[in-house]
Amino acid sequence: MLKAIGNICKVDRLGRIVIPVKIRKMFDLAENSPLELFVEDDKIVFKKYLPQCTFCLSHDDLVEHKGHYVCKKCIEELSK
Ligand SMILES: [Zn+2]
Repeated sequence: MLKAIGNICKVDRLGRIVIPVKIRKMFDLAENSPLELFVEDDKIVFKKYLPQCTFCLSHDDLVEHKGHYVCKKCIEELSK
């Protein structure tokens, strides 16, 4: 369920918006934190991006290789 937070943001001429400090702190967003965008009907949703394993979609024990993430469990299975 969407919750209004009482902020109205304006899109600038380059398409940027400012996420209020209160929300950045709430979601532990630092400068350059990756966000994933979703659209549904008339909504635009920003979600903190969590990398996932290319093979099993797990978010745990990831190793990045050439821009792709693989979990240690899949690395073990691949090396057999
Ligand atoms: Zn995996």
